[in-house]
Amino acid sequence: MKIMKTIEAIIPPPPPHMVGDGFRVHNFFPSSGLIDKRRMSPFFLLDYGSKIEFSPTPHQRGVGVHPHAGFETVTLAYHGKVAHHDSAGNAGVIGEGDVQWMTAGSGLLHKEYHEENFSKSGGLFQMVQLWVNLPAKYKKTKPKYQDLKKELQGRYLLPDGLGEVAVIAGEFKGTKGAAYTFSPMQVYNLKLKKGANLELSFPKTDNTGMLMIEGEAKVNDETAKTDHFVLFNHDGDVIQVTATEEAAMLILSGEPINEPIAAYGPFLMNTWPEVEQAIQDVNAGKFGVLED
Ligand code: MN
Repeated sequence: MKIMKTIEAIIPPPPPHMVGDGFRVHNFFPSSGLIDKRRMSPFFLLDYGSKIEFSPTPHQRGVGVHPHAGFETVTLAYHGKVAHHDSAGNAGVIGEGDVQWMTAGSGLLHKEYHEENFSKSGGLFQMVQLWVNLPAKYKKTKPKYQDLKKELQGRYLLPDGLGEVAVIAGEFKGTKGAAYTFSPMQVYNLKLKKGANLELSFPKTDNTGMLMIEGEAKVNDETAKTDHFVLFNHDGDVIQVTATEEAAMLILSGEPINEPIAAYGPFLMNTWPEVEQAIQDVNAGKFGVLED
């Protein structure tokens, strides 16, 4: 029997802050204080760059070289283009609809900034960065890079051209996601025309949330507006979504990783000695070399 997964809260975007000079983000968790650091596990951090217009500049705005270890950064672009380089030798550009899934694992250095031509022309910018935790046994996995261009993602089409589900990770009604993940999770980009209705189904025990990227929708029987985050309870397995206007949303659902968390800056480990070790490793040059 299907039981509705009810809504715990619909959260408006917290006040934004700048990450470097390129990313104006609303942190829904863990630092907003609104959603506990374990509440959306395996998703540890959600930085949402709501729509902003950047002026043209020859300078590429962004964040310079910095380390990460113990988790994965997942960057999704909705408007504008983000460029990336890391010390494992990977580089790429994330355009509209594209997703970059970077496994920091044992540790790397990277830099993230606006793509050159986007910087020169300026324009509308909207993106998401998620931090996905790694289970303890995979914390030290070798750095890995998945360039999940739009055309590589699974695509489930709604009947009558009413929209689509881009399956980034996991599976939706038999359509498989493109990402390799280290624990079970579902990550979808939904695009719905006005009036489109969709039923989503996730295990009751999953941590599940929905970020409204565009437009407005009725979720179960509540209204979710643009830029709001919908957090679901653990009381059922089915969510009903109806677009009350043309809408886009990011769906996150995953099996919680019930392990100790030691989070410090760009490191996400299980214990404090592991955090100290990561800092020592960065200082000893073990995360590789990357020029600013
Ligand atoms: Mn980073």
